[in-house]
Amino acid sequence: MLHNLGSINLDHVYRVPHLVRPGETLASHDYRVGLGGKGANQSLAMARAGGRVCHWGRLGRQDAWARDSLARAGVDVTHVSLVDAPSGHAIIQVDDAGENAIILFRGANHGFRRADLEALVAATRPGDWLLLQNECNGLEQLLPLAAGHGLRIAFNPAPMSEAVSELPLPACQLLFLNRSEAAGITGLALEAGAEALLDALAERLPGCEVVLTLGGEGAWYQRGDQRHHQPALAVTAVDTTGAGDTFIGYYLAALQRGAVVADCLAQASAAAALAVQRPGAAESIPVAAEVARLLD
Ligand code: ADP
Repeated sequence: MLHNLGSINLDHVYRVPHLVRPGETLASHDYRVGLGGKGANQSLAMARAGGRVCHWGRLGRQDAWARDSLARAGVDVTHVSLVDAPSGHAIIQVDDAGENAIILFRGANHGFRRADLEALVAATRPGDWLLLQNECNGLEQLLPLAAGHGLRIAFNPAPMSEAVSELPLPACQLLFLNRSEAAGITGLALEAGAEALLDALAERLPGCEVVLTLGGEGAWYQRGDQRHHQPALAVTAVDTTGAGDTFIGYYLAALQRGAVVADCLAQASAAAALAVQRPGAAESIPVAAEVARLLD
């Protein structure tokens, strides 16, 4: 079982003729609420890939439906707590030109106490995988606790922030980085090429396995002087939201089944290629049968 301590966000999406202006009250002509948050998306992707994942998260008491929705997808939600705080949520305006503006409230995702982190570690066995992103609080406490307990930590430092560089990253076994996260950690420019980013990552974090995803350029795996490139599938992307989350969930599910790196990358890349051809985040994550058909 992989344990994922991660965000659960509710995305409130309003379609509007234009983004709201200061002082204006604007009628929205469509409203949807969906499940989001990098943590929840990655758990969902792992479950859809057939992996075994236990999500550790916090939701406002009134939003149990979000927990039920993860459970229906096959995620173990025993440790998703309903708490007396607003759930993490995003208020998203999308205008007729496809432009968006987002207010994000971290809410319950930032209410983890040390006792919660200790309970997680106590519920795991040395050698278990722990997956983390950068949307919940407590990482600076959890990383040393988890490493001290012998957990294998997979970390996706998204969204990138300055605080990430202060974390004990060498405690991580595996890092999933996109372009901006790799640039943030290495200090290189966003335009840096894959090779420069990988060289700098090897120097900065010599003991870590790194999976670097560069959108349509594909993904790289690096461990020491071993490197593997997986080209992206040639598809027409309509919405790349959630591509990285889909990639990570599928990669980890394959790893859990004992697949070799090349297979993990192939599965993840096929799943992400399917996701980018569909609108939305969570709802665009494919199921295992679709990925198998694509790879056939
Ligand atoms: P993130 O969503 O975190 O920014 P990336 O943009 O690097 O992550 O995308 C993750 C993976 O999704 C890529 O490595 C690739 O496999 C797949 N992907 C992303 N964009 C495309 C695309 N335009 N065509 C095909 N695959 C894509």
